[in-house]
Amino acid sequence: MAQTELLFLQDSYLREAATTVTEVLEDAVTLRDTIFYPEGGGQPTDTGRLDTPAGTAIITHVAKKGNRILHHLEGPIPKVGDEVFMRLDWENRYKYMRMHTAQHIVSRIVFDQFGAQTAGNQIRAEYSHIDFAPATFQSSDLPGIENAVNDIISQNLPVTIEVIPREELVNRMGPDRSDLTKLPSSVKQVRLVQIGEYDAYPCAGTHVQSTGELNGIRITKRKSKGKGTIRITYELTEPE
Ligand SMILES: [Zn+2]
Repeated sequence: MAQTELLFLQDSYLREAATTVTEVLEDAVTLRDTIFYPEGGGQPTDTGRLDTPAGTAIITHVAKKGNRILHHLEGPIPKVGDEVFMRLDWENRYKYMRMHTAQHIVSRIVFDQFGAQTAGNQIRAEYSHIDFAPATFQSSDLPGIENAVNDIISQNLPVTIEVIPREELVNRMGPDRSDLTKLPSSVKQVRLVQIGEYDAYPCAGTHVQSTGELNGIRITKRKSKGKGTIRITYELTEPE
């Protein structure tokens, strides 16, 4: 079984596309191509609709299972070989794209200012959080972080994607930031998300094309999670 072509990796703005059902498993299907991001890496599942010969089904959840991308459906279940049409719930996805690009910038600023690595993150539509460890920065440091992030955003930097060999990563990111031990040895090619000349970070998520698509961020919370881990919660600001 050929693996599903992940169209969102090439074009995160693709909102609809035709494809074919390749497998049916109870309430879920696999597709030849998909525009739907499967939950993972701190980014939530995409949702949407699937127009099938049997009617329109709602895509409630998309998940990786082994090599498969399972699209869980509510409504009519199509058959293998059916031509179907995918429609993405764009409003939420676009929020995730903006939040995800913001996350890369916040992570980089905190690394530059305090040397703290990002240990985890969760993107959401309304607010997101990032866990830094080991980290020691204080609440009084938050305005400085926020200002630095908003300064990068206001420079309207292009966000570009490049696929590079794993060995190149250290050259592109610097030895302090590129922890290759976190990358499974099976990964030979790395998808690098670059924010202007400012930041480069491996990521399989969906991003905006320019930091200008963000207005700015507001850091709403700092919480110590113990064992040297600090969680920052942030939201996107909108133009006045
Ligand atoms: Zn990312």
